[in-house]
Amino acid sequence: MTDPTELHAATRAIRAGRKGDGTSLAPVLWPTTTFVTPTVDVARKMATSVGADRFYSRYGNPTVAGFEDAIADLEGAEAARAFSSGMGAVSGVVLGLCSSGDHIVAQRQLYAATQLLFQAVCPRFGIEVTFVDGTEPGAFAAAVRPGKTVLVFAETPANPKLDVIDLDEVGAIAGPVTVVDATFATPILQQPLKHGIDLVLHSATKGIGGHNDATLGVVAGSRELIDWLWGFAVLQGASASPYDALNALRGIRTLPIRIRQQSESALVLAQALEARSDVEDVRYPGLPSHPQHDLAMRQMASGGGLVTFDVAGGLDGGRRFVEAVKVAQFATSLGGPETLVTHPASTTHVNLLPDELAANGIGQGTIRVSVGLEHVDDLIADFAQALDAAEAAR
Ligand SMILES: *Cc1c(COP(=O)(O)O)cnc(C)c1O
Repeated sequence: MTDPTELHAATRAIRAGRKGDGTSLAPVLWPTTTFVTPTVDVARKMATSVGADRFYSRYGNPTVAGFEDAIADLEGAEAARAFSSGMGAVSGVVLGLCSSGDHIVAQRQLYAATQLLFQAVCPRFGIEVTFVDGTEPGAFAAAVRPGKTVLVFAETPANPKLDVIDLDEVGAIAGPVTVVDATFATPILQQPLKHGIDLVLHSATKGIGGHNDATLGVVAGSRELIDWLWGFAVLQGASASPYDALNALRGIRTLPIRIRQQSESALVLAQALEARSDVEDVRYPGLPSHPQHDLAMRQMASGGGLVTFDVAGGLDGGRRFVEAVKVAQFATSLGGPETLVTHPASTTHVNLLPDELAANGIGQGTIRVSVGLEHVDDLIADFAQALDAAEAAR
């Protein structure tokens, strides 16, 4: 038999995470919160076994374990742990690994809630965070304080301007645990662990779940690190719901084909946007105009499904555009079948100060697009009419 790790990702996405399903072809849903134990000895063993998935569902659950196995398989990881949301995974990693007096090096370009966790929550626990420009060569390593820095946190491609961070460079940092939030890429476009990164995490709410019907997070890495995180996660309590894990397992089956189509459409849409004079700073990792295009093409299989651009006319231009789209919809999230447009300055990044917005390259007219599975010609026509409407109102 072929070594399963040699199979293509598209094949592994179909086969992964089926261990606990017996003869059922579809994943089996275990909604139970608890499990019957035959003897005290068995109960004691389960209560003290890291990763037990037949004891109490906050510790682990067979349906959730199927999802975790599937992610570990796609990431080339020894193990994975699911959380009740992407932020559950982020806070689980940060608070599970860091203690008072510790130091973190984090990228400046981050999902806004992650940034707030570093800025507002970490200091309350005596954890110091240094932010660096992740696109500046050597910036992460230069900010590491030997013996004091316990975590290096990167995100690539990053929110919301799709900055690409050099995975080899972060993976080469020795000492602290290196973590990459790879939500925008999913395991299909890049595998950070192959670049020497210690932990990869995802908001599976996005592309992995892929249908906007599961709020879920996941972290993958070595068995040792995941077991350590499990010890904190059981106390943190942000455990994944088996219903969400079931939906996400279904999502994983079509993840490679969805990502392929979304990448293809995103590139065509980005090219169409670049050709317009009322649009500025189109950012798409698959476009030669992207500042880290060469790096992106080295470490990603394709550019992915997200595009960012600036509408002329600032806040008014951005507002008119998102309110004028008809095929796309104005909603905060990404990675699903529906094309969504967001206005970061008034939604995801609304809590940032003006200079923080500027430092992240977010203008009042910045639009982030998650390209869905509609026909790309319909999207191009829709964006054109919405941009025309925004332009006419100026
Ligand atoms: C959405 C998102 C998160 C948070 O995930 P939730 O499931 O909403 O908690 C973290 N990182 C990135 C890059 C995201 O897009």
